[in-house]
Amino acid sequence: MTIAVKKRLVSSEEYSLKCPNPMTPEYITIHNTANDASAANEISYMTGNSESTSYHFAVDDKEVIQGIPLDRNAWHSGDGTNGTGNRKSIGVEICYSKSGGARYRAAEALAIKFVAQLLKERGWGVDKIRKHQDWNGKYCPHRILSEGRWDQVKAAIAAELERLGGKKAPKPPTKTETKTSGATYTVKKGDALSVIAQKNGVSMATLQRLNGIKNPNFIKVGQVLKLTGSASSSSGKKKSSYTLPSGVFKVTSPLTKGTAVKQIQTALAALYYYPDKGAKNNGIDGYYGPKTANAVKRFQSMYGLPADGIYGPKTKAKIEALLK
Ligand SMILES: [Zn+2]
Repeated sequence: MTIAVKKRLVSSEEYSLKCPNPMTPEYITIHNTANDASAANEISYMTGNSESTSYHFAVDDKEVIQGIPLDRNAWHSGDGTNGTGNRKSIGVEICYSKSGGARYRAAEALAIKFVAQLLKERGWGVDKIRKHQDWNGKYCPHRILSEGRWDQVKAAIAAELERLGGKKAPKPPTKTETKTSGATYTVKKGDALSVIAQKNGVSMATLQRLNGIKNPNFIKVGQVLKLTGSASSSSGKKKSSYTLPSGVFKVTSPLTKGTAVKQIQTALAALYYYPDKGAKNNGIDGYYGPKTANAVKRFQSMYGLPADGIYGPKTKAKIEALLK
């Protein structure tokens, strides 16, 4: 069934502010609003305020609303006046990402279907999809990224597109092909470390260890990654860099602090569940406070554990299994 789009287009008097340039789209860029407003409210706010920030569609759990015509550019990618994201891509905002929960999940599900529909209409494949982060490094779509689900979302769009009879995704190279061809990989634009790992049949932790990558969100285009071999000496890290403590850790008064907590925080950060993304050292401070508990909680809910924010044997085992 075709998803209907409600048009609440910006008035043409606002074009010079919101969408000054004609556009022939070449990509679709996915965002999370980092807000808890409905699509109708997001679009009415966007079209009515005096900021230049703009995007084409907002999607919530019930509907898709369009604010900018598709033949005009919108300012949503943070890559500058002539940036490809801003000048050549259709911006899709997924609502309710701030608090998440059922409403957000429904919004994301509708967005997946809608983006597949946009691809189908254009005869495009999933290779046309970008995340905001690809254009300027901004941590957006924040919820999808912090939950480590970008590949999953892309795969869901691909599956939906296939269901609609659209372009099939090219088959990823097989392990043997890539492993024998020099066992390195050159980072291309739009690549994510998790995808490279998946495509090449190595774990992300291994890739990080082999190449001394501390923050998987910052790999450079053109960087040559080792896929096999022993750990890079420049990283100086031992294989056991993700040691995890036994026992139970939770928010106490005063806060529990120390190396054990730091180990938990470091392991969570390696899996993208940062105690405090963007803060100094991503919030890895050795204190088991509310932010660490929240990271544990997000991790637990993602892996089917009781989401109580308390680190114990089950959480430990799950983290260990993922970092092996
Ligand atoms: Zn964004």
